[in-house]
Parts: sequence; C-alpha cells; structure tokens
Amino acid sequence: MVNLSRYTLRGVAAAAALAGLATMALPNAQAAQTSSTTQTAATAATATTADPLPVGGPAFSIGSVPQGDAVTTKSSTLNLVRYNRLYKTGPVTPSKCKEVNVSMRTLAGVQAYVSQHFRCTYAEWALPLKQAGAAYKVAPKLVFYTAATANSYCGAVTRTSFFCGYNGKAWIYIYAPEIMSFWGSSPTLARAYATQVTAHEYGHHVQWLTGILGASWARQRAFSTYAAQMEESRRRELQASCLGGASIGANKRYYPMSGGLYTQWLYVVNNSGDQPGYPRDHGSLKNHGFWSKAGFNASRSYTVAGNCNTWNANSTYVA
Ligand SMILES: [Zn+2]
Repeated sequence: MVNLSRYTLRGVAAAAALAGLATMALPNAQAAQTSSTTQTAATAATATTADPLPVGGPAFSIGSVPQGDAVTTKSSTLNLVRYNRLYKTGPVTPSKCKEVNVSMRTLAGVQAYVSQHFRCTYAEWALPLKQAGAAYKVAPKLVFYTAATANSYCGAVTRTSFFCGYNGKAWIYIYAPEIMSFWGSSPTLARAYATQVTAHEYGHHVQWLTGILGASWARQRAFSTYAAQMEESRRRELQASCLGGASIGANKRYYPMSGGLYTQWLYVVNNSGDQPGYPRDHGSLKNHGFWSKAGFNASRSYTVAGNCNTWNANSTYVA
C-alpha cells in the first residue's frame, strides 16, 4: 500500500491555495504569468500573491488492469511508459458535447457540469484506446465527495480530486468543495478548472488502461533516490495533464473552449503545479503549462497521444 501521508499534506496545501486564491487579483496574476521569463522584482512580488493551483491528487494503480487485445502488463516497465502503443494512435475524436450551462455554486451544479464533461471525455478517448489495444469500453466510476476525506479502495485521500485503479476497476473522485470555492471567486475560472481537472483525472484512466500508470508506479518504487522517484511522478502527472489537454482541444469547437473560458483555461494550466515547500511530484507551473498546451494544440496532428510522451522528454521538460 502506498504511504498516503504526503498526500494528506498536499490536501492541506490545496486548501491553502484556495484561501490564497479567494483574495488574489486574477488579472494581476495573469499579467505576471504572461510577462517575460525574466523575473523582475515587480513580477516576483506579484507572483507571491498567486499561489499555485492544485493539479489534483494522486493517481493509483493497485492490482490488475483490464486486459485489452494488446495491453499486457508483462512488458517491461520502460516499454510500457516510453514505447506504449498509445503513442502511435490517431487523433482524439471530438465528442461534439456542449458545456453544461449551470451554476457550480452547489454540489448539484458541480455534479451536472462534471458528469457531462466526463461522458464527453469517455467518448473522445474510445477510439485511441481501442487503437492502443486497451480495454476501451471500461469506464471509471465518477464519485463526488464533500467530506474532508474520501476513503477509496486505494486509501484515504484528503481534499483533492484523484484517480484510483484497483483490481480491474477504476474510480475518479472529484472533491466538489474545491470547485464550488473557485466559483465563488470567479465562475469562469471554476468552469475552466472543473474542465481541466476532469480531463486530467481521465488522463490517468487512459494511462491505467494502457498499462502506463501501473508501470510508472513500479518504476517509481524501483528508483533508489528520492529525486528520481519525484521525476517519475512528474512524468506521470504532466502526461495526465497533456492527455487532458488533448481531449479538451479535440472538442474545442463544440464545447466551445474559446473566448473567456479559453483565457481562464490557459490561466489554470499555466498556474497549476507544485507549491513551494511541498513534494515536487506534479511539475513546475511552467512545465505544467507546456504539456497541457502541447496536448491541446496536438488535436489536429497525426498522433495526439504521441505528443504527450513525457518519458521521451529531457529532464528539464519534466522539472
Ligand atoms: Zn494527477
């Protein structure tokens, strides 16, 4: 079983980030983000008022994975993460789903909004997963929670959305109060965040079905240094955000992901990542933005998932 203590800490950090977000001025924070990479005293001062947004919590793979035609977890872990058939699959299919027009001030609103996007994402990934030889019909069960802690088959997780694959079944847990809190700060930001976090967690489902998630955890456990273990975690998490971006990008004309919602989505992906003083397990803000946009902009390329091969990237891109 995985030690969950640091994830509990991450949950606390997520709550702290929310508290920070409630008081920060979004336009200023965005201006800081879009300014040059040369960090002047002025932008550094602005950046400290904008705590990183949470990417989401852990993604577990415990026990067996549903066996598709071609996915076998008997391949070497390097083969599974770096040379997976997923990277040769074609474009993600637009689901042509529309965004649900609903207030996410309430749990019911979050459920309506996220459930629709979840169904859309399932439809979008079916063909690439089939091409990868994965058990593409297997859907995760979507669970919303509002208590501080969710007790899943993969363990107890606090105040964050996460993915759990356990003995052939999978779950996506959405921590609804986080999204409701964002709504109180900015409804458009909340829509962008809810869209991204659902797509990111579904990205973990794609990793799970293709054997990548389990192989990545096996690699992480096998590394002898903490630094190498954290880099493995970042490759896994940044890929999930890239796959998330790919599904959002594939359907951008229909959702639609444009205008103010697109601006806020860019803000979300450019400001999500590891927080100062916490484990470096999800990636820097810069790299999170890079991979999320790589997925989003890959929607017309020959292979979409192939653009999300974080295991084929230099360490600086997964820092
Ligand atoms: Zn994740």
